[in-house]
Amino acid sequence: MTYQDSDFGTVTVTVNPRARSIIMRPEVDGLRVTAFRGASLAFVKSTIEKFRSSLLKKQKALKERPQLTKDDVEQMRREAKATLPRRVAELAHLYGFTYTNLTIRNSKTRWGSCSSRNTISLSLYLMQVPEHLQDYVILHELCHTVHHDHSSHFWALMDTVTDGKAHALRKELHRYHTA
Ligand SMILES: [Zn+2]
Repeated sequence: MTYQDSDFGTVTVTVNPRARSIIMRPEVDGLRVTAFRGASLAFVKSTIEKFRSSLLKKQKALKERPQLTKDDVEQMRREAKATLPRRVAELAHLYGFTYTNLTIRNSKTRWGSCSSRNTISLSLYLMQVPEHLQDYVILHELCHTVHHDHSSHFWALMDTVTDGKAHALRKELHRYHTA
C-alpha cells in the first residue's frame, strides 16, 4: 500500500514474510518500508515517527546528490567500455588470473560480479569512483575466479593482490554509491 506524507512524499509499504523488523529506506521522492507479516499500519507509522528526523536527513542527502541524466549514463557506459576491459586484462595478466568474458552493465545494486563460469560483470557506475577503487573491484571479481565465495581463502588472496589493503579498500568503496 502507499500513502502520502508531507515530508517524505510517497510512502510505500510492502510486507515481506522474512522481515523481522520494520525496514525503512529513504528515496529521493519517498520512503520505502518493508514490514513483517502481521505488522499493523499503526505500528508501521509509529516506527516511522521514531526515526523520522534521521530518515529525513538521509533523504536530504540523497536529494543533494546530483541526479544522473540518460546522457550522463551513456557517457559513462562509453568510458567504461573504453577503459575497463583493458584494465581487467592488465590486472589478470599481472596476477595470473583467467576469466571467460567481461560485460559492462547498468548495475545499480552492485559494482561487479563473477559467475560460476568466470564471466565478470562490471557496473558502468565504476566510472564515478577513483581508479584505485576500480582496481579493487576488478581484483575482487578476479579473485572470485579462484574462490567463488567470500571465505577466508578469498580474503587472503585479495590481500596478496592489494598489498594487504583489501579490507581498507572495501571500507573506502562504501563511501561511494552507484547511481
Ligand atoms: Zn564478492
